[in-house]
Amino acid sequence: MNRREVLKLLGLTVVNLSFGGRHAWAALTGSVEGEAEIIRGTRVMMGNVPVTISAVASDRNQGREAIAAAFGEMHRIENLLSVFLPQSEFSRINAAAGEGPVRVSSETIEIIRRGKEIARLTGGAFDMALGPAISSWDFLGKRHVPTPEEIAALKPLCRSEEISIDETKQEVSLQKKGMSLDPGGIGKGYLAERGKQLLLKNGITSGIIATAGDLVLFGGRPDGTPWRVAIQHPRHRDDKIASIDLTDCAVSTSGDYERFFTKDGVTYHHLLDPKTMLPARECQSVTVISEEGTAADAVATGAFVMGPTRGMALLDGSKNGNGIVIDRNGGVQISDALVERVKLH
Ligand code: ADP
Ligand code: MG
Repeated sequence: MNRREVLKLLGLTVVNLSFGGRHAWAALTGSVEGEAEIIRGTRVMMGNVPVTISAVASDRNQGREAIAAAFGEMHRIENLLSVFLPQSEFSRINAAAGEGPVRVSSETIEIIRRGKEIARLTGGAFDMALGPAISSWDFLGKRHVPTPEEIAALKPLCRSEEISIDETKQEVSLQKKGMSLDPGGIGKGYLAERGKQLLLKNGITSGIIATAGDLVLFGGRPDGTPWRVAIQHPRHRDDKIASIDLTDCAVSTSGDYERFFTKDGVTYHHLLDPKTMLPARECQSVTVISEEGTAADAVATGAFVMGPTRGMALLDGSKNGNGIVIDRNGGVQISDALVERVKLH
């Protein structure tokens, strides 16, 4: 099958990432004592996000201890940024909207600073201040399509410029009552990045942290070859459209198939265009490969909202990532730096 035929096959839905490939998982079974193997652990975090840590280790106990330490660190970060936890720092900032600054940890400052930076980089397509809009749509609950009047009322409450950070005092404030931060498009990448740091600290030199569609990977497979990351077909969950061998980087996918509902025959998904407060319709999925997880996550969300033309221009030109864009018709675009390395299936 040639490239053109593959592109034609891409009909309608979303992109997701799987990883590892047959070779990597073969190492899970039949391993020889003393040889490196992949040890895995899975937990649910941030409300409903499945997190899987895979660590290559020749000593199983060392592998398990490192994974436990990584989950411990990730829980610590979850306690800062999850809006599902009422005592988290993000929840406290949201509760104080319009009422003045809240003193928070340096990590929370860092995530919000990066969020504002990527809001600028994406021309406002990525926006952490979308909290009120995400609550109104309530994708995980009552699944409501906001009326035009509701959208008009939401707009002035969803502006990144009105998130203020005082780095010296380590304080964050939301300028208007009713504003709220939503970490959904950036937090999983940061979480994965922190997990990696803890694995490294515990002597693991190869591993993958996967927080749903956000991967941070380092080193390679037990046989010394790089990790193989496969990008799933946006419209056929079990099919892969492309794969790429990678090491020491982060890979995030944002897709319209991850979280959605259908009402009166129209499908609505969870990646909102801040200009309209409605789902962004120009892409099926965007995969971003970046040096680091926070940028990969947020840039994937932002580039998805920007659409294939502007999104691809961003991925070709920025230090923040390269990527693969699948447009609304299933057409695939690969950024210049990756063209030679991506294998279309
Ligand atoms: P997922 O892995 O959940 O698909 P994404 O990184 O694609 O994650 O982010 C989706 C989440 O980001 C949404 O569920 C919502 O919480 C938040 N979000 C939606 N639209 C935007 C946007 N334009 N900018 C920033 N965050 C957004
Ligand atoms: Mg994202």
